[in-house]
Amino acid sequence: MVNFQVAIDGPAGSGKSSISTIVAKSLGFTHIDTGAMYRAVTLEAINRGIDFENPNEYTFLDNISIIYSNNKTYLNGVDVSKEIRSEEVTRNVSIVSKQGCVRDKMVHFQRQSAQEGKILMDGRDIGTVVLPNADVKIFLTASAEERAKRRCKELHETGRNDSYEEVLELIKRRDDIDSNRKLAPLKQADDAIYLDTTKLTIAEVCNKIVDIINERLKKMENNEMNSFEYNDVHVKDKVTGKVVEVKKDSISVDLHQFTEGTMYLDHYTTDKNVTSFIGVVNVGDEITCEVTKVDEENGVILLSRLNMLKEENFKALSENTNEVLTVKVAKKLEKGYNVVAKGFTFFMPLSQSPSDVKIGDSLKVKILELDERRKTGVVSYRVVEHEEYEANKKAELDTLNEGDVVNGTISKIEPFGAFVRFKYNQGLIRLNQIDHVFVKNINDVLHVGDKLDVKIISKENGKLLLSRKALLKTPFELYVENHKVSDKVMAKVVNKMPYGLLLEVSPNVRGLLHKSEYSWNPNDNFDAYCKIGDEIEVAIIAIETKKERISFSRKAIIDNPWSRVNANVGDLVEATVTKVDQKGVYVTALGVDAFIPVKDAFAENQNGKLDEAYQVGDKVNAVVSVIKPKEWILELSVKKHLANLERKEFQKYMDFEAEQDVSMNLGDLYKDILKK
Ligand code: C5P
Repeated sequence: MVNFQVAIDGPAGSGKSSISTIVAKSLGFTHIDTGAMYRAVTLEAINRGIDFENPNEYTFLDNISIIYSNNKTYLNGVDVSKEIRSEEVTRNVSIVSKQGCVRDKMVHFQRQSAQEGKILMDGRDIGTVVLPNADVKIFLTASAEERAKRRCKELHETGRNDSYEEVLELIKRRDDIDSNRKLAPLKQADDAIYLDTTKLTIAEVCNKIVDIINERLKKMENNEMNSFEYNDVHVKDKVTGKVVEVKKDSISVDLHQFTEGTMYLDHYTTDKNVTSFIGVVNVGDEITCEVTKVDEENGVILLSRLNMLKEENFKALSENTNEVLTVKVAKKLEKGYNVVAKGFTFFMPLSQSPSDVKIGDSLKVKILELDERRKTGVVSYRVVEHEEYEANKKAELDTLNEGDVVNGTISKIEPFGAFVRFKYNQGLIRLNQIDHVFVKNINDVLHVGDKLDVKIISKENGKLLLSRKALLKTPFELYVENHKVSDKVMAKVVNKMPYGLLLEVSPNVRGLLHKSEYSWNPNDNFDAYCKIGDEIEVAIIAIETKKERISFSRKAIIDNPWSRVNANVGDLVEATVTKVDQKGVYVTALGVDAFIPVKDAFAENQNGKLDEAYQVGDKVNAVVSVIKPKEWILELSVKKHLANLERKEFQKYMDFEAEQDVSMNLGDLYKDILKK
């Protein structure tokens, strides 16, 4: 045994110094009296005349040297063993040793001197502060009175005459300071052996301590011996050792056994990429492995990590069952396959296998369950397949956005719509999104397997609504491709409204015929003339592509007879009778319909029967009495025409009379005129 430390602590006068000196000597230990070291500092402090309580005055500690060797104390190289026992030093040492800077310096010196060998150190804080890991710790004490008695005896032997009371008083004071100071107070370490020496002689105490130390030494030696025992190493033991040699193919491991253990590369790893230990394992590395062979006769211990790796690998598998494993199909079984991964064989049931499996195939699987004891488990290809499918589905869905036009295949037709399949997702074309025109039976338009472009019109919660219609030309668009403004077309009246007619020119292509566009004739009542369902000829007069609106006109294709009427009130016209009733005579004149009111049908002061005087087809001369072309009103007056004639004849007569004086009666005159 090289190093061994004994710590003896106790109050002043407990006999530490004398006992420690004797014990150390008898066991061949180096004795360090730490009290002597504190006394040496105190001596230096007294010599320097500093204020003991002022920590700033201890700067001399930076350059102080205190050595305790062979029961002698050297202060800065000078033996002060005697001086440090002076009454002045004893009185002040407890005050000086309270200072933190003093304690730090002393603890440093003490630890330095206890680094190597068998050390016995005595003091107040050895077991608690200076050597907390000491192999033996003893706390020596005695009653204050007994200690005072012993101290007096000691002093008297050196020729001093201190009184017992004085010594007792001083001991109690030092006890009090040493035990109650803040830093490293005197106290028994938890693991120290308590030894009350009040009733024991020095020899008795020394023997006790020697026994304690020897017993401890023996125990430690036994332990050391045990740690070198090697004959209890067995195959399958798990051992840990330091690598002491590294070669390409093998390493040597110190196991504290009869020989070093050897591990070959193929027992270190199953990784075929590792072809050498060099650079992988270093001398000094600690390695844990299993013993696979113990041959004492030939001095061989073989080591392996393979079983441990297997354990570790299996543990890693069980800790990460969500991981995707690549397995090789090894064997076909009745209800599944044996597959192999990471050195383990798993079972893959048929229900969890791909439909077509060959021996040797590489498959990605996930663990369903593990059997820790048998190092096997059940795996599934289907789970991975499903997860991959779901991931692809999500990825594809991320690329499908509202407004996109995509190509898909009709996968199913239902009465309410058709399903379109993309690679991983599918969407629905509802009935009303198939075409612009109403589709009664989807099967007339779409078939399972048809490929088609569709527009995504909604994407909510992963559900895609599609439209085929959105990509088709509207009936309006198709219609206007072949029709233009001014075209004459046949249209069906589909609705009658106060402001016009709604006409349909092609299925779902409708437009308005405003009432102002129905006829030139302001008296025409379009509402009365047209029934819903009538076909009328109209002209296209406007096409509004954006609003998909068409405007029609009937008037535009009908002749406006009034456009040619050019007459003024008073003009003489010839009229043809078309009808006669009580109100008057209906005629045509100047190419338009005209009317002779009953008041204007006969000469002034003449009354006749209309239906006798006027027959349908008769030609009648009359003058224009009212003309309103915009309102298509032309009224004629026979009365005014006759009056004009009379005035003319009268004028003629007057002119003739004046020349020839011929008299003629008026009755004769009228006869001729009316005949004309
Ligand atoms: O052991 P001795 O009586 O010579 O110690 C003198 C003083 O040194 C003690 O009273 C104590 O104040 C101080 N001392 C200490 N720590 C030690 C040893 C001694 O504080 N380890």
